[in-house]
Amino acid sequence: MTELKGALIGCGFFAVNQMHGWNDAAGVRIVAICDRDPARLQIVGDTFGIERRYSSAEALFADGGFDFVDIATTVASHRPLVEMAAASGVATICQKPFAPTMEDAVAMVAACDRAGVAFMIHENFRWQSPIRAAKAAIESGAIGEVFWGRVSFRSAYDVFSGQPYLATGKRFIIEDLGIHALDIARFLFGDATAVTARTRRVNPAIAGEDVATMMLDHEAGITSIVDCSYATRLPVEPFPETLLEVDGSKGTLRLSQSYRLSVHSPDGTEVSDVQPRLLPWASKPWHNIQESVGLIQRHWVECLRERREPDTSGRDNLQTFALVEASYLSAAENRTVPLSEFL
Ligand code: NAD
Repeated sequence: MTELKGALIGCGFFAVNQMHGWNDAAGVRIVAICDRDPARLQIVGDTFGIERRYSSAEALFADGGFDFVDIATTVASHRPLVEMAAASGVATICQKPFAPTMEDAVAMVAACDRAGVAFMIHENFRWQSPIRAAKAAIESGAIGEVFWGRVSFRSAYDVFSGQPYLATGKRFIIEDLGIHALDIARFLFGDATAVTARTRRVNPAIAGEDVATMMLDHEAGITSIVDCSYATRLPVEPFPETLLEVDGSKGTLRLSQSYRLSVHSPDGTEVSDVQPRLLPWASKPWHNIQESVGLIQRHWVECLRERREPDTSGRDNLQTFALVEASYLSAAENRTVPLSEFL
C-alpha cells in the first residue's frame, strides 16, 4: 500500500486536532503545512515535526508533492483555496461551514467535478461514536418506523475564548454549530424538503444569533426539531454533547446527557453507555469531537483509496448547507422555506 501524502492549510485552533488525527492514521503522512500567520505555522510545524512550511497557499500548490489537501481555515478563504486545489488536480477536504453563500458552495463542487478531484466537507459530527450508535440502533428496526426526531445542542460553554471570531460574525449559531446538528438530522432521518426556523440573540456581547430552533420536513414524512443554544445554563454543562430523541412506530430512542443511550422497544428497555474513547492526545470535554476527527479522516482515506465518494462529499453537503441558508431565510421572513429555493 503506497503512502498517501497530504498538506494542511490553516494551522489554527481546530487544525491541531486534525494534525493529531493524521498522526494516528495508517498509511498517511502530512508532508507540508501552510498558514499566513508565522507564529501558528511555527507552533504546528514544531509540534508535529513538519519541515515544509508555507505562508502562501499559491507557493504550497506550486511546489506540490502531495495527494490531498486538508483546508482548516475559516470560511472566507474556503472557495479560493478549494478552487486552487482543484486547479492543481489535488483531492480536497474543506472544513465546515462550506462557504459564505450557496453560490460559492455550488461553484466549489463544480470546480472539483470539472477537475475530477475528490472533495469532502469535514462534517465530523455524524462521525461521533454516540451518534453512530444511535443510527445503528434505529437501523436495527428496534423502534420500528421513525416518525419524529429531535437533535438538540444546548449549552452555555464559552466558545468565544478559543474562537473569538465567532462573536463578531453577523451569523453565529446556525452557521457554526447548527450546521452540524442539521447534518445529523439528515444522517438519521434523510434529506429534508423544507424548514421553519426561529432565532434569537440572548448574549448582548456577540453580533449573531445564539439560539435557534428549526423544524424540518423530511422526504420520508418524518418531522424533526433541530434546536441549538449557547445561552442555556444547565446544572451540569453538557458541552459538546448532541442529544437525540427519536420516536418510532414500535418504540423510542433517547441519547441523553453523559452519553447514555436508551432504546425502548416491545422487547424491553436497553440502556447503554456510549462514551466516546478518550484518545491519548485528546482532552475532555472535547474528546467526543476529537475522536470523530480521526474517524472522518479514516473514511476519507478509504474513499480515496477505493475511489468512492465520501459520505459528506461536497455534493452531499450542499443539502446540509441549503438547510443553513433556508433556516436563516425562514427566520428573517417568518415563513416556511422549501429547500427547492436553494437546490
Ligand atoms: P482559526 O482562526 O483558529 O484558524 C484558522 C487559521 O487559518 C489561522 O491560523 C489563519 O491564519 C489561517 N488562514 C486563514 N486564511 C488563510 C489563507 N488564505 N491561507 C493560509 N492560512 C490561512 O479558526 P478555527 O477555529 O481553527 O476554525 C477553522 C475552521 O474549522 C472554521 O471553518 C471552523 O468553523 C472549523 N471548525 C470545525 C470544527 C468541527 O468540529 N468540525 C470545530 C471548530 C472549528
